[in-house]
Amino acid sequence: MPDYRKLRDPNAEYTMRDLSGETMGLEADRGGPRDVEITDVQTTMVDGNYPWILVRVYTDAGIVGTGESYWGGGDAEIIDRMTPFLVGENPLDIDRLFEHLIQKMSGEGSISGKVVSGISGIEIALHDAAGKILDVPAYQLVGGKYRDEVRMYCDCHAGDESEPASNAREAERVVEELGYDALKFDLDVPSGHEKDRANRHLRGPEVQHKVDIVEAVCEAVGDRADVAFDCHWSFSGGSAKRLAAGIEEYDVWWLEDPVPPENHDVQREVTQSAPTTPVTVGENVYRKHGHRRLFEEQAVDIVAPDLPRVGGMRETRKIADMADTYYVPVAMHNVSSPIGTMASAQVAAAIPNSLAVEYHSYQLGWWEDLVEEDDLIEDGRMEIPEKPGLGLTLNLDAVEEHMVEGETLFDEA
Ligand SMILES: [Mg+2]
Repeated sequence: MPDYRKLRDPNAEYTMRDLSGETMGLEADRGGPRDVEITDVQTTMVDGNYPWILVRVYTDAGIVGTGESYWGGGDAEIIDRMTPFLVGENPLDIDRLFEHLIQKMSGEGSISGKVVSGISGIEIALHDAAGKILDVPAYQLVGGKYRDEVRMYCDCHAGDESEPASNAREAERVVEELGYDALKFDLDVPSGHEKDRANRHLRGPEVQHKVDIVEAVCEAVGDRADVAFDCHWSFSGGSAKRLAAGIEEYDVWWLEDPVPPENHDVQREVTQSAPTTPVTVGENVYRKHGHRRLFEEQAVDIVAPDLPRVGGMRETRKIADMADTYYVPVAMHNVSSPIGTMASAQVAAAIPNSLAVEYHSYQLGWWEDLVEEDDLIEDGRMEIPEKPGLGLTLNLDAVEEHMVEGETLFDEA
């Protein structure tokens, strides 16, 4: 591994500590059991329904914090790059360490993308470690509880996703057999009427096909469940408006990401054009700064930050607070292992404006095997544990069993 310390800017005035770990500015020593230092950061990748990145922060107190950064390649190298900036620091200084990493990683692009999701994984692990050091659940570190259990919505996939009837059958099954009262289905599915899928334009028969899916699912579940529909940034502004108008009568929970994420003006126009259908945006947006204009321009009805991607637990809390000043609810996007999901649920428990948290692994079969706890989600609700930190214990045997080939298992604490 290269000595990244040589790459660091020796004149950076914002630096709290120098390379040797000696205190330069702020004094972090506390004495007693809270005088703890980070000794190492490790990652491994698990082959779930996404390639989950698990992150562990080790301390000289023998306490290990576990976190998760947003799935995909590249995080491990970025987190290795950040490790020297954390070793010797006190894991209780979560907010300062977050800003420290953002500043130290500015050259790699810490406004968005993989650097921010890597920092998110570390930040979650710091909350887990800090909770264990202080002997409090993680929700206590982000403000305390509004609710004992968090509503989870199930992201659903039908056998033939382009068939309205198969979507309706799966909706019925998930409500009746799995007990969810909140669902989401994809609307960016083939209709058979496409002429050109690259131009983002929806022809009339394509709009009608999506309306048929919405109608079939909503009529199948009736008032037993709220149902959202996801478009994955697929359509032009004009097509998105036609679609939003077409589903108006079905009282959908929300319409998600109908247009690409880069252009706020189009997003605002589409959101404001839909008279009663709420438009949800956020999983592709980074940090509180990325969300600012969505709120200020009232371009979003429900915001959907992805906690292991957006900056972690405190950053999500801050985004939720910004949202609340515009009376916007939060429905966290989530495709994580139990670690990232529990981090999301802990924050959802601690904010007033939580609508629900996504669960995206109902077809995987071994999602909760990754931790020693059972029955994490029951009847569409995730109970918030009273154990310290995230309240989960990673099952290292299960991690090893499902690790991506070539990955290395974490050291024991
Ligand atoms: Mg989505």
